[in-house]
Amino acid sequence: MAETIRILCAHGVPEDMVKRLSEEIGPVEVLSSHDEEEILRAIQDKDVFVVRSKPQVTARIVENAPRLKVVARPGVGTDNIDRKACEARGIQVINTPEASASSVAELTVGLAIALLRHLYLTCAFLKEGKWAKGQYTGKTVEGKTWGVVGFGSIGRRVAEIVKAMRAEVLAYDPYVPEEEFIRRGVKRAFRLEELLERSDIVSLHVVLNSETAGLFSEEMLRKMKKGAYLINTSRGKVIDQKALLQVLREGHLAGVALDVYETEPPQDLELLTHENVICTPHIGGSTEEAFLNATEVLVNKLKALFRLGEGVPIGY
Ligand code: NAD
Repeated sequence: MAETIRILCAHGVPEDMVKRLSEEIGPVEVLSSHDEEEILRAIQDKDVFVVRSKPQVTARIVENAPRLKVVARPGVGTDNIDRKACEARGIQVINTPEASASSVAELTVGLAIALLRHLYLTCAFLKEGKWAKGQYTGKTVEGKTWGVVGFGSIGRRVAEIVKAMRAEVLAYDPYVPEEEFIRRGVKRAFRLEELLERSDIVSLHVVLNSETAGLFSEEMLRKMKKGAYLINTSRGKVIDQKALLQVLREGHLAGVALDVYETEPPQDLELLTHENVICTPHIGGSTEEAFLNATEVLVNKLKALFRLGEGVPIGY
């Protein structure tokens, strides 16, 4: 008979997820805090540790968890998990980026429409009793060139949506094979500069790493078309925020929408209060559907890893 899979859930893991895990995978213990000593005590007999963006899963925890086989993060970022320490002990780290792709993509397109149609300004005026009908002629997505930077799960979903809106999509991602662009009917830009020079709307969907941190430097921002729009729902550090404020002040960009910031919550209110900037508090993945999907994807990944229903779980 297969051994029981014991799960430790970090403080803050949603109740629905705890319920599904206990019904479909194995007994669950839920921590009452992010305290490392409490984690160390509880993790001794656990096979799976489920965390959110907290707590830090340190090398000390990983090295003192004799049965641990999987650290699972419902969501995207795994920056709080010491992946090297996990790798050294053959512990798998899994996350659920696919669960929120549509939520982030839809927010990206929504932000673009809000910018192009001046929704934020006209709404605010009307609430003050001002009928600004004639002053804010908008633009359509149809007929524009939309540059997708980072052609992974979210970038591809954005491409699908804006193609249906009859925009031409140009995508830049040096790590995606040629066939993927062809299969999805998307033109490939071989250099970021080429995409920036040709796109009316640019949306960012890269992962944050040493190559993409600061990718949108002042030099790159200036390569964008004059009057173009920029949307960032990826990670704040991909854009140099000071440089962004500078190019906005010069009127080089028509509008910017941000969901993510160099530091969160953002400190630089000068950028956020610029009249051509709209901003949201990192809500790209915050939909009921994304949370439900994350549970579904996580449970299925754990079942596959432990080969539940097939007899032999991993590591035994
Ligand atoms: P993904 O891993 O599926 O795709 C990222 C893509 O970036 C990959 O295809 C990769 O090849 C590409 N890439 C890496 N380096 C690059 C470079 N130098 N230039 C161009 N492309 C490069 O990730 P995803 O799930 O699509 O997520 C995209 C981004 O969205 C991530 O930064 C993620 O953290 C962020 N995100 C934000 C929210 C939110 O709430 N706003 C929610 C989920 C994800």
